[in-house]
Amino acid sequence: MITKPADLPPDFSSASLLAEANRCVACGLCLPHCPTYRITLSEADSPRGRIALISGVASERIPMNARFALHMDRCLTCRACEAVCPNHVAYGQLIDSARAAMTQSSSARPGQGTGMQKSALRTLAEKEFITKPARLDALRPLLRLYQTSGLQAWVRKSRMLGKTKLAVLEAQLPLIDTPCSASNKTAASWQTIYPASGNARGEVGLFLGCVARLADVTTLNAAIFVLNRLGYTVHVPPAQTCCGALHRHGGDLHTAAQLARENAAAFAGLNLHAIISTASGCGVQLAEAPPDFSAKIVDISAFLQQAEGWNDVKISPLPHKIAVHEPCSLRNVLRGAAHPYALLARIPGACIVPLAGNDQCCGAAGTYFLDQPEMAKALLDDKMIAVNESGGHYLATANIGCALHLASALRQAGSEIEVLHPVTLLARQMGMPS
Ligand code: SF4
Ligand code: SF4
Repeated sequence: MITKPADLPPDFSSASLLAEANRCVACGLCLPHCPTYRITLSEADSPRGRIALISGVASERIPMNARFALHMDRCLTCRACEAVCPNHVAYGQLIDSARAAMTQSSSARPGQGTGMQKSALRTLAEKEFITKPARLDALRPLLRLYQTSGLQAWVRKSRMLGKTKLAVLEAQLPLIDTPCSASNKTAASWQTIYPASGNARGEVGLFLGCVARLADVTTLNAAIFVLNRLGYTVHVPPAQTCCGALHRHGGDLHTAAQLARENAAAFAGLNLHAIISTASGCGVQLAEAPPDFSAKIVDISAFLQQAEGWNDVKISPLPHKIAVHEPCSLRNVLRGAAHPYALLARIPGACIVPLAGNDQCCGAAGTYFLDQPEMAKALLDDKMIAVNESGGHYLATANIGCALHLASALRQAGSEIEVLHPVTLLARQMGMPS
């Protein structure tokens, strides 16, 4: 069951929040599924322990202090615990409320160590770029120039960024692509409409996201290509903005709610069958927005599974093994982990295998990899072992954050395994120009 930010009590100590925390019967069934508990083996880093801490602080039995903040910060918000909880405790709602309370407490009493641990880089990105899509669009050609001029190769070779967080972020930068145009050539920005080719079957909206509109243009182009070929006209309203997930998980519920309102207004009045998200992390945030908007949100793989028009398209064979990574957001919250497999199964000759350990987070988790690098690395190391043992030629994943995190590690290890969204692989086999 999905809990929505709109359901969040504004006051951390409100009776409903406490009642939700107290619905945990401490059975411990969630513990083996929690990545942080698996690593630290500390009760305070388990879902049950964190819920007990939240209950304790909300009822003022224990103080909100730096130790409380430490254990809240370490949570990946992967929601694996919520997916297996027999009592359906709304863990996602509890941790978001706890972090919002930490943010309020830190503003009211600076220097107490109760605020969320956020890198300066994250704060800068959240404030100056993520909620300002025009700036992200302006950054795209600059990053392309950085890559094509040879400057990136020099920066990486010289290691001039050292072991800074900027170096971690730079290492994640994929080859920046440019948006497609309706004539399948590249363009400076997205068009507001991409008409269907062939038999018209419906009108859909495409959600661009923030990181994705900069660093995952290839997936967005692929989604437009496949949808158009199947007969769906794609609308890309220019007023859309970031989904707000980073803000919500970072304790800024106010900005998250504001972004949800802006996105609802951007897509209003278009009479769409569906609003399609290509990143499952954004998909969760959008699906948990107020109902007038969230009801139309569909992950691209889920939409394509029930789409019409497949008999009208030709898909070339691909005689390779594709390992499938299941993002936590898709698996634990949207409950759509099966859809990418069904999509990839349309490619003749492809051998599709699940990645071992798909029930454990990869450590990307929004900006977790920047804010909690040690825990993130431990989780990433496990994934690298699983990817190498999979024998996959490709690694398919439906969330941009996971894709960047995994691809960066593979690149640094000298691996030639390509990480991409399932819809990109499908679009290529349907003839999408590269
Ligand atoms: S499975 Fe649910 S009820 Fe049991 S300890 Fe975990 S959160 Fe509490
Ligand atoms: S959301 Fe993930 S990391 Fe956090 S308590 Fe639940 S299982 Fe553990």
